Amino acid sequence: MFKENALELLKKSGYKVTKPREWIVEALDGNTSHPSAMEIFDQLRNNNKSFSFATVYNTLDTLVKSGAVKQVTADPQCSRYDPNTFSHGHFYCKKCGKVSDVFDINMDMASASVSGKVEEYELNIFGICEKCLQDVN
Ligand SMILES: [Zn+2]
Ligand SMILES: [Zn+2]
Repeated sequence: MFKENALELLKKSGYKVTKPREWIVEALDGNTSHPSAMEIFDQLRNNNKSFSFATVYNTLDTLVKSGAVKQVTADPQCSRYDPNTFSHGHFYCKKCGKVSDVFDINMDMASASVSGKVEEYELNIFGICEKCLQDVN
């Protein structure tokens, strides 16, 4: 479902669906690790798939602009990408840089004091993940 939708949006944006673009979409499908453009590039290249980094970057940019993929801003080092476009929060570990999903945010967005109507939200939480906390002890 994600793949079909994403490829359709690429076509609508005037992009031809080439193999590399399809691989990039597949690398994101069901991916909850919030990969960066470089991680997607490395992952595909390790599987002997060759294309330029610009292809990855431009494809991701188009997918974000067309709404198929969300850009995750939790990591201060680089942009990360999320195929889950529903509003949810992200927890960023300041030690290992892992970005994980947070779905149970207790915020009543409908009653948030904004002068207008809330349609979506973005929330970044920063701290130390459980694994890193255990490594210290
Ligand atoms: Zn960590
Ligand atoms: Zn996420």
